[in-house]
Amino acid sequence: MVTPSTQEKARLGGRADVGAASVAGAEYSTIEHALSDALAAHGITGLAIRADGGIHRFDSADKPKGNRNGWYVCPTLEVAVYGFWHTGEQHTITTGGKADPAAAAETRLAYQRAREQREAERRAQQARTAEQARRWWAAAGAADPNHPYLTKKRLAPYGLRQRDTMLLVPLFHDGELVNLERIYPHGAKKALFGGRAKGVASLVGSLASADRVLVAEGWATAAALHEAMGVPVVVARNADNLEPVARRLRQRLPDDVTITIAADDDRFTEGNPGATKARLAALAIGAKVLMPTFCPGCARCTDFADVALCRKERVA
Ligand SMILES: [Zn+2]
Repeated sequence: MVTPSTQEKARLGGRADVGAASVAGAEYSTIEHALSDALAAHGITGLAIRADGGIHRFDSADKPKGNRNGWYVCPTLEVAVYGFWHTGEQHTITTGGKADPAAAAETRLAYQRAREQREAERRAQQARTAEQARRWWAAAGAADPNHPYLTKKRLAPYGLRQRDTMLLVPLFHDGELVNLERIYPHGAKKALFGGRAKGVASLVGSLASADRVLVAEGWATAAALHEAMGVPVVVARNADNLEPVARRLRQRLPDDVTITIAADDDRFTEGNPGATKARLAALAIGAKVLMPTFCPGCARCTDFADVALCRKERVA
Protein backbone atom coordinates (compact mmCIF):
# COMPACT_ATOMS: atom_id res chain seq x y z
CA MET A 1 0.00 0.00 0.00
CA VAL A 2 1.28 3.44 -0.92
CA THR A 3 1.13 6.05 1.84
CA PRO A 4 0.24 9.53 0.58
CA SER A 5 2.88 12.20 1.05
CA THR A 6 2.20 15.06 3.45
CA GLN A 7 1.59 17.37 0.53
CA GLU A 8 -0.95 14.97 -0.94
CA LYS A 9 -2.68 14.53 2.40
CA ALA A 10 -3.05 18.29 2.63
CA ARG A 11 -4.54 18.36 -0.83
CA LEU A 12 -6.91 15.48 -0.08
CA GLY A 13 -8.02 17.08 3.15
CA GLY A 14 -8.61 20.38 1.44
CA ARG A 15 -11.29 19.10 -0.92
CA ALA A 16 -13.42 16.09 -0.25
CA ASP A 17 -14.18 15.37 -3.86
CA VAL A 18 -10.69 15.48 -5.31
CA GLY A 19 -10.54 12.61 -7.74
CA ALA A 20 -8.25 9.97 -9.10
CA ALA A 21 -5.64 12.13 -10.78
CA SER A 22 -4.68 14.03 -7.64
CA VAL A 23 -5.15 11.04 -5.35
CA ALA A 24 -2.51 9.22 -7.35
CA GLY A 25 -0.27 12.20 -6.81
CA ALA A 26 0.40 12.44 -10.52
CA GLU A 27 1.23 15.77 -12.05
CA TYR A 28 -0.18 16.28 -15.50
CA SER A 29 0.87 18.74 -18.14
CA THR A 30 -2.65 18.98 -19.54
CA ILE A 31 -6.13 18.65 -18.06
CA GLU A 32 -7.08 16.40 -21.00
CA HIS A 33 -4.48 13.90 -19.90
CA ALA A 34 -5.53 14.11 -16.23
CA LEU A 35 -9.17 13.59 -17.12
CA SER A 36 -8.41 10.70 -19.49
CA ASP A 37 -6.59 8.89 -16.69
CA ALA A 38 -9.35 9.59 -14.17
CA LEU A 39 -12.04 8.31 -16.53
CA ALA A 40 -10.01 5.23 -17.36
CA ALA A 41 -10.34 4.27 -13.69
CA HIS A 42 -14.11 4.14 -14.32
CA GLY A 43 -13.63 1.91 -17.35
CA ILE A 44 -14.06 4.74 -19.83
CA THR A 45 -11.46 4.91 -22.58
CA GLY A 46 -11.10 6.36 -26.04
CA LEU A 47 -12.88 9.66 -25.40
CA ALA A 48 -11.53 12.68 -27.26
CA ILE A 49 -11.51 15.08 -24.30
CA ARG A 50 -12.46 18.62 -25.18
CA ALA A 51 -11.41 21.19 -22.57
CA ASP A 52 -13.51 23.93 -24.12
CA GLY A 53 -15.62 24.83 -21.08
CA GLY A 54 -18.66 23.08 -22.58
CA ILE A 55 -20.47 20.14 -21.02
CA HIS A 56 -19.77 16.83 -22.69
CA ARG A 57 -21.60 13.58 -22.22
CA PHE A 58 -20.41 10.03 -22.54
CA ASP A 59 -21.62 6.50 -21.86
CA SER A 60 -20.95 5.00 -18.43
CA ALA A 61 -19.41 1.53 -18.55
CA ASP A 62 -22.04 -0.16 -16.37
CA LYS A 63 -25.10 0.64 -18.51
CA PRO A 64 -26.09 -0.15 -22.11
CA LYS A 65 -24.47 1.73 -24.99
CA GLY A 66 -26.02 5.13 -25.62
CA ASN A 67 -26.91 5.75 -21.95
CA ARG A 68 -25.05 9.10 -21.80
CA ASN A 69 -24.98 8.87 -18.01
CA GLY A 70 -21.50 10.36 -17.75
CA TRP A 71 -20.62 14.01 -18.10
CA TYR A 72 -17.57 16.22 -17.80
CA VAL A 73 -16.66 19.85 -18.12
CA CYS A 74 -13.34 21.66 -17.89
CA PRO A 75 -14.15 25.10 -16.54
CA THR A 76 -10.46 26.06 -16.79
CA LEU A 77 -7.40 24.40 -18.30
CA GLU A 78 -6.34 23.25 -14.81
CA VAL A 79 -9.63 21.83 -13.54
CA ALA A 80 -12.05 19.19 -14.74
CA VAL A 81 -15.33 18.12 -13.16
CA TYR A 82 -16.96 14.84 -14.11
CA GLY A 83 -19.71 12.66 -12.79
CA PHE A 84 -22.46 10.14 -13.45
CA TRP A 85 -26.15 11.00 -13.37
CA HIS A 86 -27.38 7.54 -12.42
CA THR A 87 -25.17 7.29 -9.31
CA GLY A 88 -25.02 10.98 -8.46
CA GLU A 89 -21.28 10.83 -7.99
CA GLN A 90 -19.21 13.85 -8.93
CA HIS A 91 -15.44 14.33 -8.94
CA THR A 92 -13.11 17.24 -9.39
CA ILE A 93 -9.58 16.75 -10.66
CA THR A 94 -6.76 19.17 -11.31
CA THR A 95 -3.56 19.04 -13.32
CA GLY A 96 -1.87 18.82 -9.93
CA GLY A 97 -0.50 22.33 -9.94
CA LYS A 98 -1.40 24.97 -7.38
CA ALA A 99 -5.13 25.07 -6.75
CA ASP A 100 -6.79 28.01 -8.42
CA PRO A 101 -8.93 29.83 -5.80
CA ALA A 102 -11.55 30.49 -8.47
CA ALA A 103 -11.67 26.81 -9.36
CA ALA A 104 -14.10 25.80 -6.60
CA ALA A 105 -16.60 28.41 -7.68
CA GLU A 106 -16.08 27.47 -11.34
CA THR A 107 -16.66 23.86 -10.41
CA ARG A 108 -19.95 24.58 -8.73
CA LEU A 109 -21.11 26.63 -11.69
CA ALA A 110 -20.05 23.93 -14.11
CA TYR A 111 -21.99 21.31 -12.19
CA GLN A 112 -25.03 23.57 -12.11
CA ARG A 113 -24.85 24.11 -15.86
CA ALA A 114 -24.43 20.39 -16.48
CA ARG A 115 -27.51 19.68 -14.37
CA GLU A 116 -29.60 22.32 -16.10
CA GLN A 117 -28.59 20.97 -19.49
CA ARG A 118 -29.55 17.48 -18.41
CA GLU A 119 -32.93 18.74 -17.15
CA ALA A 120 -33.57 20.52 -20.45
CA GLU A 121 -32.72 17.34 -22.37
CA ARG A 122 -35.05 15.33 -20.15
CA ARG A 123 -37.93 17.74 -20.73
CA ALA A 124 -37.30 17.76 -24.48
CA GLN A 125 -37.35 13.95 -24.52
CA GLN A 126 -40.57 13.91 -22.48
CA ALA A 127 -42.17 16.27 -25.00
CA ARG A 128 -41.11 14.01 -27.90
CA THR A 129 -42.48 10.96 -26.10
CA ALA A 130 -45.78 12.74 -25.36
CA GLU A 131 -46.04 13.50 -29.07
CA GLN A 132 -45.43 9.84 -29.90
CA ALA A 133 -48.02 8.79 -27.29
CA ARG A 134 -50.63 11.06 -28.86
CA ARG A 135 -49.84 9.74 -32.36
CA TRP A 136 -50.07 6.09 -31.26
CA TRP A 137 -53.22 6.71 -29.28
CA ALA A 138 -54.94 8.48 -32.17
CA ALA A 139 -53.97 5.71 -34.61
CA ALA A 140 -54.94 2.80 -32.33
CA GLY A 141 -58.27 0.98 -32.40
CA ALA A 142 -60.37 -0.13 -29.43
CA ALA A 143 -58.80 -3.06 -27.54
CA ASP A 144 -59.93 -6.54 -28.58
CA PRO A 145 -61.96 -8.02 -25.67
CA ASN A 146 -60.30 -11.34 -26.53
CA HIS A 147 -56.77 -10.00 -26.06
CA PRO A 148 -54.87 -12.73 -24.12
CA TYR A 149 -54.15 -10.44 -21.15
CA LEU A 150 -57.81 -9.47 -20.81
CA THR A 151 -59.07 -13.05 -21.11
CA LYS A 152 -56.46 -14.26 -18.62
CA LYS A 153 -57.56 -11.57 -16.14
CA ARG A 154 -61.23 -11.97 -17.14
CA LEU A 155 -61.61 -8.23 -17.54
CA ALA A 156 -63.41 -6.01 -20.05
CA PRO A 157 -61.13 -3.62 -21.97
CA TYR A 158 -62.91 -0.50 -20.67
CA GLY A 159 -61.18 2.43 -22.37
CA LEU A 160 -58.03 0.64 -23.51
CA ARG A 161 -56.85 0.74 -27.09
CA GLN A 162 -54.67 -1.69 -28.98
CA ARG A 163 -51.69 -1.39 -31.34
CA ASP A 164 -50.69 -4.71 -32.94
CA THR A 165 -50.66 -7.12 -29.97
CA MET A 166 -50.05 -4.40 -27.35
CA LEU A 167 -52.79 -3.03 -25.15
CA LEU A 168 -52.34 0.72 -24.66
CA VAL A 169 -53.08 2.33 -21.29
CA PRO A 170 -53.22 6.13 -21.68
CA LEU A 171 -51.19 8.00 -19.04
CA PHE A 172 -52.16 11.55 -18.20
CA HIS A 173 -50.53 14.42 -16.35
CA ASP A 174 -52.63 17.48 -15.56
CA GLY A 175 -55.28 16.22 -17.96
CA GLU A 176 -52.86 15.82 -20.87
CA LEU A 177 -51.90 12.54 -22.51
CA VAL A 178 -48.14 12.33 -21.92
CA ASN A 179 -47.24 8.64 -22.13
CA LEU A 180 -48.60 5.16 -22.82
CA GLU A 181 -48.19 1.93 -20.91
CA ARG A 182 -47.95 -1.02 -23.26
CA ILE A 183 -49.28 -4.32 -21.94
CA TYR A 184 -48.00 -7.29 -23.91
CA PRO A 185 -50.01 -10.52 -24.38
CA HIS A 186 -48.10 -12.29 -21.61
CA GLY A 187 -48.58 -9.41 -19.17
CA ALA A 188 -45.26 -7.54 -19.37
CA LYS A 189 -45.83 -3.81 -18.99
CA LYS A 190 -43.67 -1.04 -20.35
CA ALA A 191 -44.14 2.70 -20.73
CA LEU A 192 -42.77 4.48 -23.79
CA PHE A 193 -39.06 5.34 -23.67
CA GLY A 194 -38.17 8.69 -22.10
CA GLY A 195 -41.70 9.69 -21.18
CA ARG A 196 -42.81 11.39 -18.02
CA ALA A 197 -43.35 8.80 -15.25
CA LYS A 198 -43.75 10.57 -11.91
CA GLY A 199 -47.30 11.66 -11.14
CA VAL A 200 -48.78 10.25 -14.35
CA ALA A 201 -51.96 8.22 -14.07
CA SER A 202 -54.78 6.57 -15.95
CA LEU A 203 -58.43 6.14 -15.07
CA VAL A 204 -61.00 3.35 -15.23
CA GLY A 205 -64.50 4.80 -15.09
CA SER A 206 -65.46 8.46 -14.93
CA LEU A 207 -64.70 11.09 -12.30
CA ALA A 208 -67.75 13.16 -13.27
CA SER A 209 -70.27 13.30 -10.38
CA ALA A 210 -68.37 10.60 -8.43
CA ASP A 211 -68.40 11.04 -4.65
CA ARG A 212 -65.76 8.36 -4.10
CA VAL A 213 -62.57 7.65 -6.02
CA LEU A 214 -60.07 4.84 -5.50
CA VAL A 215 -56.38 4.92 -6.33
CA ALA A 216 -54.71 1.61 -7.18
CA GLU A 217 -51.39 0.49 -8.65
CA GLY A 218 -51.97 -1.52 -11.82
CA TRP A 219 -54.54 -1.19 -14.58
CA ALA A 220 -55.95 -4.71 -14.00
CA THR A 221 -56.39 -4.02 -10.28
CA ALA A 222 -58.17 -0.78 -11.11
CA ALA A 223 -60.43 -2.51 -13.65
CA ALA A 224 -61.31 -5.31 -11.19
CA LEU A 225 -62.13 -2.76 -8.46
CA HIS A 226 -64.21 -0.69 -10.85
CA GLU A 227 -66.11 -3.80 -11.92
CA ALA A 228 -66.75 -4.87 -8.31
CA MET A 229 -67.55 -1.47 -6.76
CA GLY A 230 -68.75 0.71 -9.63
CA VAL A 231 -66.56 3.63 -8.61
CA PRO A 232 -63.89 5.37 -10.72
CA VAL A 233 -60.40 3.99 -10.06
CA VAL A 234 -57.21 5.88 -10.80
CA VAL A 235 -54.22 3.82 -12.00
CA ALA A 236 -50.92 4.97 -10.47
CA ARG A 237 -48.92 2.13 -12.17
CA ASN A 238 -46.61 1.36 -9.24
CA ALA A 239 -46.29 1.72 -5.48
CA ASP A 240 -43.86 4.65 -5.61
CA ASN A 241 -46.25 6.64 -7.76
CA LEU A 242 -49.22 6.26 -5.39
CA GLU A 243 -48.31 9.30 -3.32
CA PRO A 244 -47.64 11.82 -6.12
CA VAL A 245 -50.82 10.68 -7.88
CA ALA A 246 -52.88 10.84 -4.68
CA ARG A 247 -51.59 14.34 -3.92
CA ARG A 248 -52.45 15.69 -7.38
CA LEU A 249 -55.86 14.06 -7.24
CA ARG A 250 -56.59 15.57 -3.82
CA GLN A 251 -55.70 19.01 -5.20
CA ARG A 252 -57.91 18.60 -8.23
CA LEU A 253 -61.02 17.02 -6.72
CA PRO A 254 -63.61 18.87 -4.59
CA ASP A 255 -63.20 18.33 -0.83
CA ASP A 256 -66.39 16.29 -0.53
CA VAL A 257 -65.08 13.60 -2.87
CA THR A 258 -63.57 10.77 -0.80
CA ILE A 259 -60.30 9.31 -2.01
CA THR A 260 -59.33 5.82 -0.86
CA ILE A 261 -56.02 4.13 -1.58
CA ALA A 262 -56.57 0.51 -2.68
CA ALA A 263 -53.36 -1.29 -1.76
CA ASP A 264 -51.63 -4.25 -3.29
CA ASP A 265 -50.81 -6.61 -0.43
CA ASP A 266 -47.30 -7.75 -1.36
CA ARG A 267 -47.43 -10.20 1.53
CA PHE A 268 -44.75 -12.44 0.03
CA THR A 269 -42.31 -9.56 -0.52
CA GLU A 270 -39.95 -8.27 2.18
CA GLY A 271 -41.29 -5.03 3.65
CA ASN A 272 -44.59 -5.34 1.74
CA PRO A 273 -43.95 -2.36 -0.57
CA GLY A 274 -47.57 -2.29 -1.80
CA ALA A 275 -49.11 -1.90 1.66
CA THR A 276 -46.30 0.33 2.94
CA LYS A 277 -46.44 2.83 0.08
CA ALA A 278 -50.24 2.81 0.11
CA ARG A 279 -50.20 3.81 3.80
CA LEU A 280 -47.73 6.62 3.08
CA ALA A 281 -49.87 7.91 0.20
CA ALA A 282 -52.97 7.75 2.40
CA LEU A 283 -51.20 9.61 5.22
CA ALA A 284 -50.09 12.33 2.81
CA ILE A 285 -53.68 13.23 1.89
CA GLY A 286 -55.60 12.02 4.96
CA ALA A 287 -57.18 9.08 3.14
CA LYS A 288 -58.07 5.54 4.19
CA VAL A 289 -56.45 2.39 2.87
CA LEU A 290 -58.42 -0.51 1.45
CA MET A 291 -56.65 -3.89 1.67
CA PRO A 292 -57.68 -6.94 -0.35
CA THR A 293 -59.32 -9.80 1.59
CA PHE A 294 -57.96 -13.10 0.38
CA CYS A 295 -59.95 -16.21 -0.19
CA PRO A 296 -59.44 -18.79 2.60
CA GLY A 297 -56.23 -20.76 2.27
CA CYS A 298 -55.05 -18.80 -0.77
CA ALA A 299 -51.26 -18.54 -0.93
CA ARG A 300 -51.05 -16.85 -4.32
CA CYS A 301 -53.10 -13.65 -4.57
CA THR A 302 -51.58 -10.28 -3.74
CA ASP A 303 -53.92 -7.69 -5.23
CA PHE A 304 -57.61 -6.98 -5.90
CA ALA A 305 -57.36 -8.25 -9.48
CA ASP A 306 -55.94 -11.57 -8.24
CA VAL A 307 -58.71 -11.89 -5.67
CA ALA A 308 -61.45 -11.14 -8.19
CA LEU A 309 -59.98 -13.71 -10.57
CA CYS A 310 -59.52 -16.25 -7.77
CA ARG A 311 -63.20 -15.94 -6.87
CA LYS A 312 -64.37 -16.17 -10.50
CA GLU A 313 -62.27 -19.32 -10.97
CA ARG A 314 -63.60 -20.92 -7.77
CA VAL A 315 -67.17 -20.25 -8.87
CA ALA A 316 -66.52 -21.61 -12.37
ZN1 LIG B 1 -56.61 -16.21 -4.16
